[in-house]
Amino acid sequence: MCDMTRRNLLLAAATGAGWSAADAQELPSGEVNKAALISSGVYFHQGDIEHQGHCNNGWIVFRDYVLVVDANFPSGSQTILPKIRGITPRPIRFAFDTHHHGDHSYGNEFWVENGATPLAHTGVIEEMKRYETGYYGGKPGRWEDAAKSRPDVAASHLSPPTVLFPHELYFDDGEHRVELLHLGIAHTHGDAMAWLPKERVLFTGDACVNGPYNFVGDGDVEKWIGTLDAAKKLGARVVCPGHGPKGDASVLDDQQLFFKQLRERVGALVNSKKSPRAVYQAIPQIRGDFASQPRIARFVDNSGIAAQVEKVYQEMTGKGFPADVKASKAARLLHRHAHAFESA
Ligand SMILES: [Zn+2]
Repeated sequence: MCDMTRRNLLLAAATGAGWSAADAQELPSGEVNKAALISSGVYFHQGDIEHQGHCNNGWIVFRDYVLVVDANFPSGSQTILPKIRGITPRPIRFAFDTHHHGDHSYGNEFWVENGATPLAHTGVIEEMKRYETGYYGGKPGRWEDAAKSRPDVAASHLSPPTVLFPHELYFDDGEHRVELLHLGIAHTHGDAMAWLPKERVLFTGDACVNGPYNFVGDGDVEKWIGTLDAAKKLGARVVCPGHGPKGDASVLDDQQLFFKQLRERVGALVNSKKSPRAVYQAIPQIRGDFASQPRIARFVDNSGIAAQVEKVYQEMTGKGFPADVKASKAARLLHRHAHAFESA
């Protein structure tokens, strides 16, 4: 029972298989590298993005097996395997990649070596074919680039998911039900979420983060807002994001508000026919305004906002920023540690 706190154990004993919103409020949140019991057999683990670039994980203990949400980087998968083993001897049969990014999928090989099958929405393979060109016989892609700075990646191989679902896939043993759902394009073109309708827990992958972690380069901000609408309709009580601490449904609301405001601000500049350079020059103002809004301040980061503004501007006009102020490439490089993005 390695990382479960005494309080969690007491709560688990007290609540049994049942769950109420009040229980969740009792649980500690925001603790990095600790397995948090969300509900009977349902765990959330907040990864160390700061130092190791790890994503968050979840795992669900079914009667006969364990389903892990996100493969993480190889070192992230190695971090959580002993924690799962400390909780249950049941075999880990499935590792669900919420999307194709390295911090969510490069640990697949490790899970395969430990008896699990990586699975994902079909869009994950399409994205891998687009960006993991080295694996598919072309020029070095993102994996090779991540391997330059990450020994854990260099010591392993890309292992794409081998069980694929085009829309949704259900796991249900009567005790637990987990629905893997592709709700639309968001952070990438292959995002899927894990929804637990009984407990009303939603593992979102990076379609929802809780902190300054929104990388928009591979997704579509306009469609992302709609996908978050679909996620909100599920009625989650606990939202386990791809990065940052877990929270309640307001995390989805706030993430969506951030993108809505971004589109509003950039849209106003586009409507008043501002030049790409003028839009770029408006970034400090936008950043300052967002940082003063309690609901969205936590999503603002100094380096990321430029790429976010540029992406929205591109979606609206088809034009990027002038070459001398190009934000997207700089943001990709800055986010490389966390997300294993390519340098090209
Ligand atoms: Zn990601």
